[in-house]
Amino acid sequence: MFAHFYNMLTEVLGRKNQSSSMLAVCCIDIDRFSVLVRDCGSRTGDRILQELEQRLCRWLGPKDFMAHNTGDQFYLCIDVQHQMAIFRQLQEQIELPFRIDDHLYSLTASIGISLITPQHQSPDRAIRNALHACITVKNSGGGKFEIFDDEGLQIQHHKSALVDDVTTAITSNQLQLFIQPKVKLYDRTLVGFEALIRWQHPVKGIVAPINFLPHIVNTNAEILLGHYVLDRAIEVLKTLFTSGCKVGLSINISPRQLTDAWFKRQVEQYAKQYPELIHLLCLEILESDSFDNLPLIQDSLKAYQAYGVTLSLDDFGTGFASINHLMKLPLNEVKIDRDFIKDIDTNDLHRIVVRHIVELSSVLKLTIVAEGVETEAEAITVAKLGVQVAQGYYFARPFSSTKLLSWLSDYRKVCTI
Ligand code: C2E
Ligand code: CA
Ligand code: CA
Repeated sequence: MFAHFYNMLTEVLGRKNQSSSMLAVCCIDIDRFSVLVRDCGSRTGDRILQELEQRLCRWLGPKDFMAHNTGDQFYLCIDVQHQMAIFRQLQEQIELPFRIDDHLYSLTASIGISLITPQHQSPDRAIRNALHACITVKNSGGGKFEIFDDEGLQIQHHKSALVDDVTTAITSNQLQLFIQPKVKLYDRTLVGFEALIRWQHPVKGIVAPINFLPHIVNTNAEILLGHYVLDRAIEVLKTLFTSGCKVGLSINISPRQLTDAWFKRQVEQYAKQYPELIHLLCLEILESDSFDNLPLIQDSLKAYQAYGVTLSLDDFGTGFASINHLMKLPLNEVKIDRDFIKDIDTNDLHRIVVRHIVELSSVLKLTIVAEGVETEAEAITVAKLGVQVAQGYYFARPFSSTKLLSWLSDYRKVCTI
């Protein structure tokens, strides 16, 4: 049966050069079929499979074909003619109840789809991709379809390899903290630093966070990174403190890291061990869709505040960081995103937005920090709008925390801290 399907697919793909329509190879695997057979018997199982095969045959278009592979797995080749709704219809066909001996049985399936574009000529690759997609659906609980083209597969592979690489980077100390000063706009004195992670890659050199952080979101590597950054941040705070510079250090924390019980315990331990340092630590909460669970975030933030840690809402004005969060979360600081600062001298709307953020933040008694100030003119404008603290290339670019002491000694030559 399957050999026949394979031969037909080879033949169709051979013709595909002349055709403009799009084909899809679908791999269908019934979810928990062995449980159904165990509970209802193999005879019922066989009849359901026969019925499903007949149902799918009736549903297929004139150019489509299918094969019952082994067990509860089917392969289909369908002409999709750019209509993706067809996959939803396929799923509906499978999920319609089966009537066997006056009993109704309902099934779901994991459906993996490989789209065949004109460049994609190999039947082996099309079948392999569909199977790979089907396994991915099955591993995530089944009951849906997933479309994977070649590019999709590459992204998946790339992603998991990168997660492993970042985990190795963390455990072998390849990640480094860079720090960037924050200054008071009124007199340009140093008020603290922000820690920004960099990957000192053995081959690629310094890799910026944008090139690896998005790949580790919602993985254990993200949690591991939170711990690593906190450990390094405490070391930097110790260095600052012993050199007589009692200014704060902020670290960037995603809501997922923030609500992680292990991270909370680590902060609690540091609060007990270094009570003189902990109030110099600030958590900058990054925008994320995990803000969905606001009560959990609120509770976590209250716990951190009880340890003496200060809290900042990062990237305000973009994405998920909404006014609602500003009012509902126990915060000490709000950071206005660079998107509003970079054209502050020419964009009336951005000046109005910043003025309103300043008004709101003053009512809530929050310190306001402008991110990404690059010129004297921008520094003057944001100061006039009521912003108290700024950070940006104009004052200093981020530098390796290993250079902290020499930076401080240069800084002290011009300012007293
Ligand atoms: P962010 O928290 O908004 O950090 C500010 C970013 O703006 C940093 O980029 C900084 O280097 C850059 N920047 C500062 N001043 C200027 C300026 O005047 N002009 C311009 N064009 N850029 C400026 P970076 O270091 O590449 O970090 C990017 C983002 O990665 C951060 O944005 C933060 O969201 C995230 N991130 C960095 N370190 C960590 C970390 O340890 N943990 C987590 N979870 N996220 C981190
Ligand atoms: Ca930040
Ligand atoms: Ca930002």
